[in-house]
Amino acid sequence: MTDKPIKSDEQWRQELTPEQYQVLRGKGTERPFSGAYWDAHDDAVYKCAGCGTQLFRSDEKFDSGTGWPSFCAPAAADAVATEVDRSHGMARTEVHCARCGGHLGHIFEDGPAPTGLRYCINSASLKKDPPVR
Ligand SMILES: [Zn+2]
Repeated sequence: MTDKPIKSDEQWRQELTPEQYQVLRGKGTERPFSGAYWDAHDDAVYKCAGCGTQLFRSDEKFDSGTGWPSFCAPAAADAVATEVDRSHGMARTEVHCARCGGHLGHIFEDGPAPTGLRYCINSASLKKDPPVR
């Protein structure tokens, strides 16, 4: 990881939409059922809206009923990194892009087999692209 995009807050503000900035850099959460991808079912890859790293795939996406895009695993184990988030009086596992550090969402342990994990991700953190074949 020698090409980490180190950007100033001002650069992020210029490059991202206000909603992307609020989620990726401000660790915000979009309203459920409001994002672009919670109900997307097509064959696709989901890239980081901040730096373009491939984070998730439609293969691991499932309908969680929560109103946020949900995945049982990332596209690659080292694509994302986690941190304990103790905000709002809870201990949750925050997940962010390993490359640019952009906030993606949280991980919960109520997902489907085989991982049992639910990566609850904000649409605003993602950019959907056709799959690479
Ligand atoms: Zn990123």
